[in-house]
Amino acid sequence: MAKVLILSGAGISAESGISTFRDSDGLWEKHRVEDVCSAGCLDTNGDATRAFYDARREDIEFKEPNYAHKVIVELKHTYPNDIAVLTQNVDDLFEKAGMQRDEIVHLHGFLRELRCRACEEVFEIGYKKQNECFNAQCPECGGELRPNIVFFGEAAPLYASLTQALNECELIVIIGTSGNVLDVTYFAQLTDKSILNNLEPSDAIDDSYFTKVYYSKATEAIGDIAEYIEEFLA
Ligand code: NAD
Repeated sequence: MAKVLILSGAGISAESGISTFRDSDGLWEKHRVEDVCSAGCLDTNGDATRAFYDARREDIEFKEPNYAHKVIVELKHTYPNDIAVLTQNVDDLFEKAGMQRDEIVHLHGFLRELRCRACEEVFEIGYKKQNECFNAQCPECGGELRPNIVFFGEAAPLYASLTQALNECELIVIIGTSGNVLDVTYFAQLTDKSILNNLEPSDAIDDSYFTKVYYSKATEAIGDIAEYIEEFLA
């Protein structure tokens, strides 16, 4: 049972040079969400959607984890059973900082993976373009491959892990999310203690429900947050 849940969003990777989503007026890297990140866009706008995720994969290849990723990985390795790490991020900066794939839940998918639309098998492709892999067909069943990303309007199967982690934890730590996709104000009400770290207040979060609030860069807040977690678990 993990007493601490650390839940991150795009903001934790901002200082590593990966653009956040809402901070750029809902345009993620100059694209309209409806065109490339919504349910159905693979059928109505397939080439542009695949090209968008090819570009995101290329974008993260040489990005480096920052101090906040590294501290969280260290905490997870020190308290493997007491801390659950879940992220909305689709980048691989926690993994580059040393997190194993089974030590973290990517709630919204993972850029380095493709999934078969027919048999649901998942394949790691690193930073390659989708159509350069497996002759653009599922190696298992020949079905059509897609980015292993949860688009807006699609089911997110790993939310079951989030529900379980919320039920188990006594302290929730939210870092770098605007709260537009996940209702983190509600999550804070489910737990005894809660910490929020964003660059600035968000219209989608009521920070009065949080035990501690840091409006600062994640790399600046993470030292205090780690100290709080360690004292909490002592
Ligand atoms: P968001 O873009 O909606 O919100 C970003 C939040 O991070 C804001 O509240 C902002 O104040 C905060 N922030 C910005 N810089 C920060 C910093 N240096 N330190 C601490 N906080 C900082 O992000 P979201 O809520 O995660 O929702 C975006 C969705 O888009 C997610 O579902 C995610 O899958 C996807 N996305 C992922 C990535 C990624 O994997 N790196 C990048 C963009 C979008």
